[in-house]
Amino acid sequence: RVVVGTKVDQNHVNWVTAYNMLTGIRFTVSRTNAKMDRELTEADFDAKHKFSFDITGNELTPSAKYDFKFKDYAPWVFRHLRTIFKLDPADYLVSLTSKYILSELGSPGKSGSFFYFSRDYKYIIKTIHHAEHKFLRKILKDYYNHVRENPNTLLSQFYGLHRVKIPYGRKIHFVVMNNLFPPHRDIHRTFDLKGSTIGRDFGEENLEANPRATLKDLNWLRRDQHLEFGPTKKQAFVEQMQKDVKLLQRLHIMDYSLLIGIHDLEKGNEENLRDKTLQVFQPGGQADDPQPAMLTRTPSKLETARKAKELRQTLKMQKPVPMDQMADKMPDELHDHQKTNYFYTDDGGFRATHEDNTPGEEIYYLGIIDCLTHYSLIKRLEHFFKGLGNEESQISAIPPERYGDRFVKFISSVTKTKEAAEREKNEEAAF
Ligand code: ATP
Ligand code: CA
Ligand code: CA
Repeated sequence: RVVVGTKVDQNHVNWVTAYNMLTGIRFTVSRTNAKMDRELTEADFDAKHKFSFDITGNELTPSAKYDFKFKDYAPWVFRHLRTIFKLDPADYLVSLTSKYILSELGSPGKSGSFFYFSRDYKYIIKTIHHAEHKFLRKILKDYYNHVRENPNTLLSQFYGLHRVKIPYGRKIHFVVMNNLFPPHRDIHRTFDLKGSTIGRDFGEENLEANPRATLKDLNWLRRDQHLEFGPTKKQAFVEQMQKDVKLLQRLHIMDYSLLIGIHDLEKGNEENLRDKTLQVFQPGGQADDPQPAMLTRTPSKLETARKAKELRQTLKMQKPVPMDQMADKMPDELHDHQKTNYFYTDDGGFRATHEDNTPGEEIYYLGIIDCLTHYSLIKRLEHFFKGLGNEESQISAIPPERYGDRFVKFISSVTKTKEAAEREKNEEAAF
């Protein structure tokens, strides 16, 4: 499904929320960054600070366009995380300044999350459910230690955790994180892989209408796709994935996936993405529906519909909000490459290699996303899956330990060069 980002301007239904998010981030990040750096303490992980913004301003907060409350969580931890992830503080503030308008990608998917891109496309704001929010706070220390010890981590990079509330509105929790995909290169194919097969199929008949839809495990297998890494890159990639998944298993996290954006160097940037409206994107993991996000989704499969309903009830999430505007033009600034993370060094991604380690024809933009779902939430859905009579090995609601093993096994097994895949095919044929 092609989903075009919607410019969030003053006419947009979520303008006030988006504006307040940015104002709050800008204020709290500058506030923390203005101070002398210091070592973290235990208390920093639990810290939360509440600010009231209003149109007149007060001794603590400057005047704002609207009245709203803003909560900033663990500001010092996130300041240190941004340093670990090599973000330039000024750059971060500029990207998220409220003078620049965000693009919204409402999610018609299961979780009900909303996604906003910063204007320069570097950052994603994802609204998260309260349960995910509480969970992130709980695991923050483990996450922090892990990314500090693993400069090449493939896990989502969290840069901030906040909450915004407008008068009489509900509390909206959100994280700021890295956009895995670059603004300056076309992504020719996107896959979201979990290592499971149930419900992991995008109806390919819809691909023509939505060439940029996010495909899933079954599409990957059907197309006989591989992550074409030669021995050196494969080893590095698999080892890092194993380390990351170990953490997720230890924290009883489930339902994450490997997001892969493929840039085909032969095709190049023929689609001139930067001159078009915003990069298209399919949030929500609900891939078998050709409708754009602005339309209310009609699930095509009973399973999906029921699971969605159940999840929405569990999460008490709102319905997708209609969107009206088309995306703004892409900004001119190029993506700042992260020079430290090995997997983001080839023009912001990780380039395919051949068996002899010579460079291949594709650049992969990849990472492990959606990693804030605790097993207890999934477990509540388990009886539902069981009720459908699915084989346990095939469904996604298996315990975190097995979920992670299956994930690693699947991803490792599809990580091989063209040459190796070819050889295996011939051997099979000969046999
Ligand atoms: P669900 O729980 O139903 O799977 P969700 O609302 O939690 O959905 P995610 O799984 O986090 O959403 O993301 C959905 C889609 O959004 C992904 O498949 C991907 O296309 C896009 N996306 C998410 N995170 C990123 C990211 N960091 N960079 C680029 N694209 C992303
Ligand atoms: Ca997901
Ligand atoms: Ca999710």
